[in-house]
Amino acid sequence: MSTERVIGVLALQGDVPEHLRTLQRLGITAQPVRTAEEIAACAGLVIPGGESTTIGLLMERFGLREPMVDLAQRGAPILGTCAGMILLAKDIIGSDQPRLGLMDISVRRNAFGRQVDSFETDLEIPVLGPEPVRAVFIRAPYIEAVGPKVEALATFEGHPVFVRQGNLLAVAFHPELTEDLRVHQYFLDLAP
Ligand code: GLN
Repeated sequence: MSTERVIGVLALQGDVPEHLRTLQRLGITAQPVRTAEEIAACAGLVIPGGESTTIGLLMERFGLREPMVDLAQRGAPILGTCAGMILLAKDIIGSDQPRLGLMDISVRRNAFGRQVDSFETDLEIPVLGPEPVRAVFIRAPYIEAVGPKVEALATFEGHPVFVRQGNLLAVAFHPELTEDLRVHQYFLDLAP
């Protein structure tokens, strides 16, 4: 088996097993990755949901920022979900926490307020087909502003919640928690 086709799931903290399971259901060789070498060997990378401050601190401590930026610059697809979206953002409103800063988006953490910490909704995502996607939001961020290279693929209450910038994808909800495989399939299809 060639390592070239391996999709990594950044396994510092967060819902790693759910992403591995989703990718495996799509017939993909998916592996948890924790070191610079493992990241460099990936054909694509998922940054899971969890706690973005924790993942960011561990990323800095283990020197993983550079290999992740290199991977993105090589054109490998990167999918950040929830906390992963926050880590991909250039701007995190009111926070100077560590980040990759690869996507020209401004995000607000825990944007949906305390009383609706978590909820589910049916989202129209035209690039994934006519059937709406059941989207699970858990203390989710939303996007307040996007740069010119960023395409909004889905919005909720007027805010982008699924965006693309070339080979980079950021999703505010948790596609790994439902049986719908279309977000991960879309991510895999971005591989050159
Ligand atoms: N609220 C978390 C954060 O700010 C993200 C929540 C999640 O990933 N489910 O990092």
